Amino acid sequence: MAYTSIGLAYLILYAVGGWALSGHPLALALFGNSGLVLPPLAVSVIVFIRRREWVGCQRLFWDVLAIGMALWVVGHLGWAFGEIVLKQPSWLQWHTLFSLCGGTCPLIALLARPHLGTRSEAAPTVSVDLASYGLLAGFIYTYFVMIPVVVPGSAPVQDTLLTLAQTNRLLLLLGTVGAAWIARDTPWGRTYIRLALGAGFGFVGRFAVNIAIERGEYQSGSLYDLTWIAPALCYAWAAITAPPSSREDQPIEMPAPAAPVLLAAVPVFLIPLIGYGWLFARPADPTGDSVRMLVTSLLTVGGLGLLTLRLVAQGGELQRADARLKLLAAATEQTKDLILITRADGQFAHANDSFLRIMGYSRSELTSLSFTDLMERGFEKLGLHISAAAAEHGVWRGTIVRRRRDGSTFPVSCTVVPLKDADERITYFVGVERDITDELRLRDQLVQSERLSAMGEVVAGVAHEINNPLQTIVGCVELMMDSPTDPSTRRDLELLGREAARAGQIVRNLLSFVRRSTPNRVAADLNEIVKTVVELRRYHLQQRDIIVLLRSHQTPLPVLVNRDEVQQVIMNLLLNAEHAINGDSGRGTITISTFAAATGQQVLQLEDDGPGIPTEVRGRIFEPFFTTKEVGEGTGLGLSISHGIAAAHGGSLELCGDGPGACFRLTLPAHAGAQASIDQRIDRSTDQLTR
Ligand code: ADP
Repeated sequence: MAYTSIGLAYLILYAVGGWALSGHPLALALFGNSGLVLPPLAVSVIVFIRRREWVGCQRLFWDVLAIGMALWVVGHLGWAFGEIVLKQPSWLQWHTLFSLCGGTCPLIALLARPHLGTRSEAAPTVSVDLASYGLLAGFIYTYFVMIPVVVPGSAPVQDTLLTLAQTNRLLLLLGTVGAAWIARDTPWGRTYIRLALGAGFGFVGRFAVNIAIERGEYQSGSLYDLTWIAPALCYAWAAITAPPSSREDQPIEMPAPAAPVLLAAVPVFLIPLIGYGWLFARPADPTGDSVRMLVTSLLTVGGLGLLTLRLVAQGGELQRADARLKLLAAATEQTKDLILITRADGQFAHANDSFLRIMGYSRSELTSLSFTDLMERGFEKLGLHISAAAAEHGVWRGTIVRRRRDGSTFPVSCTVVPLKDADERITYFVGVERDITDELRLRDQLVQSERLSAMGEVVAGVAHEINNPLQTIVGCVELMMDSPTDPSTRRDLELLGREAARAGQIVRNLLSFVRRSTPNRVAADLNEIVKTVVELRRYHLQQRDIIVLLRSHQTPLPVLVNRDEVQQVIMNLLLNAEHAINGDSGRGTITISTFAAATGQQVLQLEDDGPGIPTEVRGRIFEPFFTTKEVGEGTGLGLSISHGIAAAHGGSLELCGDGPGACFRLTLPAHAGAQASIDQRIDRSTDQLTR
């Protein structure tokens, strides 16, 4: 609104000023000519100031428009010099070429098609195209207007000049209206409308000016000048309000299809065709014709030069596009994510190396398979749902299960997007997938440890509540045992005492499951603790035909622990393994390995070749009171207590591997202080030995 008001004010001021000075020819000429050049100069200045806001073809568009306005200003100053200084205003002089070419620049600028985006890659080729059309315009004006002017004895060309000027304005009007229609849904729609408004004023006003010029009635400073002022004001309005180039689409802008070379070749063909054709059809005076021939030849050569430049620029553009494609391909291939492209019917068109590696197929094998062929059996219909959902919403996200060549499966988190052609038809689907096996395992572990800690709270409360009445029972039984009773009552009391003591032991076990901190920690060597426990069980194990393979780490594994508790953990694991083997074939092997993990933890791994742990109970074995053993054989507390002890030491106890037998891994933090104290102990014992 503010800009239109300024524009209107300028027009009114110009009209009023011209009317006020109508009796003073010199003042009117000065006023009129300066008023005429200010708006086009303003366009150039605005573009100069805002130039950095545009890039690529959008900057090219404004550059050409601003150059056009500047050329027009030069041309008009030439005209004004004739009017004011030489007192002989002439429409046909050297300056005419500037005015004509300047007036054609907005039309040529439209060929940059700025509404299509910045298209920075294409800017060099487009600029050569624009130069070719500039050359064609320059050729036409020189050939039909300037040569007759400078060659003595030529026919008058006033009409030709007016026709060309009017044709230019008509083409500009059609071009801007067409562009405004095509770009109506883009931010450039409004800019084109403002330019079209200016072109419309120019086209209509030019009729009146042409008549005035023909009748010799034109006077600068008059209302006729609005034919030039109004369009330039509209161009300034367009330039000041034009959208800046979107920064988003610059770094990853997809290469726009290059403008066909034929478009650039048109001027090169037209120049000799028009030049020599006209000479052949309408030969005039020999001097003029020979100058025309010379100009035609020179500009044809110039055009060919531009065409060559265009091809070179296009080659560079292709090279850059090629380099970018290579970069994208390298990024796709080297990413750890699985990237796949399928045709609209689901057949694989391409997949990156990660996908091929993880699925176990070669690239050529993949092309005969479809998206659903590599999904877990029974889920084929999901493939159709995914493509339909991606087509409808533009993207589908979810989790699916992939099936490898060897039949094994794994879960992936998957994003699928459709690729469309110019007619909005889906041609391909692109999928980006990520193996989430580890993530799911971690999540399960987290859920499990949350459940265990919740249970721990409950168990702690219950254990404390039971402990007090239990103490009372034990106390009462002891008191009653002290007073003389008959033998049968005494037997009952003894039984009561034993059962109360057993219940007390269970309560103590429960409390050690929930105990957060372990007192009495000492520096110890994990290898040595394991050895002690194995020694304790060696006889029993031999009796039961169970071999124990102890693979201790070569150097001590220092830990700061409550020895008894860690021994209890190892003992629990060993007893469970023994029980599993005995319940199975009766004989077997238990392998215990100790080592230092890269993460700075000391690790004990205990494997057996028993029946293993069924998948359905794997998630529950650490829960208190969970047991698969017969009544009286197991309490279901061994693993939960061991888990609590490991956690209280800042370590962990977890089930590892999917092997046929069971495998448990106990991890404890390594302790540097413990290392020093172990070293001291070793030194001391060596001293004693040597003494
Ligand atoms: P309990 O031994 O009293 O049953 P635990 O907490 O020690 O209690 O063990 C819980 C359950 O874990 C066992 O009942 C058994 O089903 C399973 N389990 C533990 N260790 C093994 C193993 N080495 N092989 C097979 N199953 C095992």
